[in-house]
Amino acid sequence: MNKYLSELIELSQIDKSIDGFEPRIESIQRALNVAIEKESAIKSAIESYDEEIKEAKLKRGKNELHLAELAEKLKELSKKTAIVKTAREVKALGLEEEIAKEQSDFANEEIQRLDKLIDSKNLYKEEESLKLEEASKEVEEIRASIADELAEIEKEKKSVYANKQTLTGEMDQKILSFYEKIKKWAGNTTVVPVKKQACYGCFMKINDKVYSSVIKEEEIVTCPHCGRILYKEKEQEIKE
Ligand SMILES: [Zn+2]
Repeated sequence: MNKYLSELIELSQIDKSIDGFEPRIESIQRALNVAIEKESAIKSAIESYDEEIKEAKLKRGKNELHLAELAEKLKELSKKTAIVKTAREVKALGLEEEIAKEQSDFANEEIQRLDKLIDSKNLYKEEESLKLEEASKEVEEIRASIADELAEIEKEKKSVYANKQTLTGEMDQKILSFYEKIKKWAGNTTVVPVKKQACYGCFMKINDKVYSSVIKEEEIVTCPHCGRILYKEKEQEIKE
């Protein structure tokens, strides 16, 4: 076989496996990403419960303060009631007292409502915290299980890149740039086999003259239809 052609076939196979690394890494990391997303969704749910609890406690505090003020006011009113003389004054104080009592009732109800709210939010938060524990455990488990796989790929990647560097260093630079030019549009189908006298890049039939050149493997032949570099299908590929 033509030396340049065999180098081009090798180079295209190296580039193909380089292209294959990212999808392999992505598919391995997909499960981890799903688990991490789940974990962070739970974390933000807990954060928003915390926020709601904090806000409810703040409101509760304000109501407590208001209640204390009202209690003070009621004490003052009863003192005044004891010393006023006229019926009109008694009536006015009575009215004020009534309003203060209503406000106290309202503040008490509000405190009860907020307590219930805080309790239920705490309950939800507890549930989420349990879920978070599970989710974090899952993240760690996945992380540990894929670490070896990723390290293996990283090793493979290094050796493939080293092979590429050696190969391209040895190759004729004109041949290399010819390949790179086609690769720009053809990607990892720059060098394709011919099967059943058809180019396996564009799937068009090639004529007998081109086909016989491909079979001879004496020179670099490109597909007359698409321009990809052609080579004769190997025995093992026929079996596949
Ligand atoms: Zn073609």
